[in-house]
Amino acid sequence: MIIVPENAISELVSLSDCFDAVEKVFASMAKKSAYNFPVIREAIGHQDALYGFKSGFDRETLALGLKAGGFWPHNVERGLTNHQSIVFLFDADTGKCRAVVGANLLTAFRTAAASAISIKHLARADAKVLGMVGAGHQAAFQLRAAVSQRQFERIVAWNFHPEMLPRLAAVAAEIGIPFEAVELDRLTSEADVIITITSSFNPIIQASEIRPGTHLACMGTDTRGKQEVDEKLVAAATLFTDEVAQAVSIGECQHAIAKGLIAEDDIIEIGSVISGTAIGRSSPDEITLFDGTGVGLQDLAVASAAVDLALSKGVAINVDV
Ligand code: NAD
Repeated sequence: MIIVPENAISELVSLSDCFDAVEKVFASMAKKSAYNFPVIREAIGHQDALYGFKSGFDRETLALGLKAGGFWPHNVERGLTNHQSIVFLFDADTGKCRAVVGANLLTAFRTAAASAISIKHLARADAKVLGMVGAGHQAAFQLRAAVSQRQFERIVAWNFHPEMLPRLAAVAAEIGIPFEAVELDRLTSEADVIITITSSFNPIIQASEIRPGTHLACMGTDTRGKQEVDEKLVAAATLFTDEVAQAVSIGECQHAIAKGLIAEDDIIEIGSVISGTAIGRSSPDEITLFDGTGVGLQDLAVASAAVDLALSKGVAINVDV
């Protein structure tokens, strides 16, 4: 069995490796050659923790496995990351455990890859201003991945906790793109692409505020009850997602579905756009919205990439189990 520890990932795997792996698996999902198994997520009644599994199988790459982990809100008091994740990969021919891969950084990478993929396929080619809503752990990764997809000239950002924005500004400075913390109305009136990555339970952006031609990547809503944008905005946009089943149950689309404003058939899996069986943006004035819910196959795809890179660079740790 191969072990790729958490502390080896940053040297081994790049955002661009994850982008390629996730783009491929999204296409396989749309072709139905890769599928996610039902998600398990439980409040365990200890340390206020949420624990669960995301799993699946990709028949094209033979990636089979699960990501286990969750959210331990008191970890920060112990100097640990609140989100804890690990991926187990199994040999699809024998069922033997093939690899164990630290997946904290990989989770941020695969989530950032998803929104960047949506920008590649759905944003206007002439998008110049990137709007960031959110400034937590994931936001910095989202920003880094997004800027490689268009010639962004400016970043405008808003966060519910404004004191967190300087951290995002530092990332923008490192990348070399001018950054401005703004009020929400300025963000929505100036941004061509908007990424939302918060843990909000109430809509932050209203339908009336969004300009024609905007692309939104709504990445924060991954649980029943969370919401980042007004359901009327969801209803007005052309909708894309990683997986429809998750979008309507735990994603941003859940509220518009519950209010009868949209139907499941209104949501296009981005893999169909990637593989060319569906049209992405069809006009410069269209509002496109990607509901990124985060699927287990993304985790398996990036963990498999980490194993392949560890093997090719001769740094894989082999143990007998
Ligand atoms: P974090 O705790 O580091 O940051 C939380 C962010 O949400 C901050 O910007 C904070 O200011 C903001 N926020 C907190 N309370 C808010 C409120 N009431 N209203 C508006 N904003 C509020 O979290 P993170 O790790 O950056 O994750 C952000 C979100 O992304 C979470 O909801 C997380 O579950 C989700 N997530 C989604 C995926 C996916 O695949 N779609 C993957 C990982 C994380």
